[in-house]
Amino acid sequence: MKRVVIIGAGIIGLALAKELAGYGLEVTVYDGKHSVDEGSDKASGILSKRGLELSGLSYKDCIVNRLNGARLHFGKQTLNVKTEKTQAYIVDRGLLAKANYDAAVDMGAIFKLGKRLDLSAIKDMDDGNTIIIGADGAVSNVARAFSFPSIKDFVLTYKAEYECTNCIEDKGMVDLYFSRNFANGFFGWIAPYSDSTLEAGVGITESSKRHSMEAFSAFTKNRNVDKSLADARLIKGHASIIPISSRSKTVNGNVLLVGDAAGQTKATTGGGIIFGIACAKVAANSVYMNLKNDRRLSLYEKDWRRSYGTDLKMHNALHKYYSMVSEAHMERFIGIAKALGAEAFFAKYGDMDSPTLMLKRFFLRGLAK
Ligand SMILES: Cc1cc2nc3c(=O)[nH]c(=O)nc-3n(C[C@H](O)[C@H](O)[C@H](O)COP(=O)(O)OP(=O)(O)OC[C@H]3O[C@@H](n4cnc5c(N)ncnc54)[C@H](O)[C@@H]3O)c2cc1C
Repeated sequence: MKRVVIIGAGIIGLALAKELAGYGLEVTVYDGKHSVDEGSDKASGILSKRGLELSGLSYKDCIVNRLNGARLHFGKQTLNVKTEKTQAYIVDRGLLAKANYDAAVDMGAIFKLGKRLDLSAIKDMDDGNTIIIGADGAVSNVARAFSFPSIKDFVLTYKAEYECTNCIEDKGMVDLYFSRNFANGFFGWIAPYSDSTLEAGVGITESSKRHSMEAFSAFTKNRNVDKSLADARLIKGHASIIPISSRSKTVNGNVLLVGDAAGQTKATTGGGIIFGIACAKVAANSVYMNLKNDRRLSLYEKDWRRSYGTDLKMHNALHKYYSMVSEAHMERFIGIAKALGAEAFFAKYGDMDSPTLMLKRFFLRGLAK
């Protein structure tokens, strides 16, 4: 029987290990980190309530805040989408990693932490008897080792945590700021963790030819943001990277890619956990069916694109549209959308993961009236 190896114990590798072990398969996970929560504060943890509930992740003890809306700022226009109920959770990424590591270990997955594999060690694993899964993040060595096509679009990020006494007006709302000046091709955000802690961050497309820290500095000097952070004390900050388009190929022989390594992220927000985990489930099933029934492993590609490809393409199209139009156009567009009732529309039908689900809700609920 073939052995299964995962390279990368990020949140997607952890979820995948749990799934594979759940099928009764022997799975070994390698990661360069000594502990799975290492470096977890480089990314945020804003996840839709629905997505998280469906993910199968252990998350109940990791929630730090509940969100019931968002304010989207475009120049002088603000789209205020607020609902009665919790729409999203903010989770502590370190706790999330630990909880899902424990769950995977309980299911029988074997972890080899503190083992960063170089290109030749990864290539050597391909002995014809091993299924290799690259869950090794945006800059995947597994993808390089087996000559997968590259990811074309990246967002460079910088995010920081702050402590403050009076800077959080409404703990249930996240603020998103759109402007070419500080967040070319993406956005800046302020997300409250608690009554006295918050996260501020910014993303810029790689083609902006600017360091994300420089963009972050410009973001924090923006009039509204500057007001929000006036009494806040910076604790720590981190730069990172998000892939915002998927690879054109994610299976090659006995090698599969999942999560950020495959580029299974939402181009509009950079969120990668919900779709990454959904695709990891597809990958686990493909591996199991290959080992049990000799079903072709290459069908993983077709399976995940059939289930999630349309949503990811819609996120891409929305991101491309936003990146192309001028700020003045966007401001006008938001003004018109507001006048037409966009705030109520998004509050009623909106879904932060799935544009197709939003359209379905609209046609089923909205037109059924
Ligand atoms: C600033 C920022 C904010 C974000 N906010 C959100 C959010 O709010 N919601 C959301 O859903 N997503 C968010 N994301 C995206 C999300 O963090 C990623 O999609 C997710 O972490 C991807 O998980 P992964 O397991 O695929 O990759 P990673 O988390 O990158 O994990 C890859 C793992 O592989 C290991 N590794 C790499 N190379 C090797 C090697 N050669 N040998 C051994 N181990 C190796 C690494 O050590 C790492 O542990 C954000 C990202 C950033 C940067």
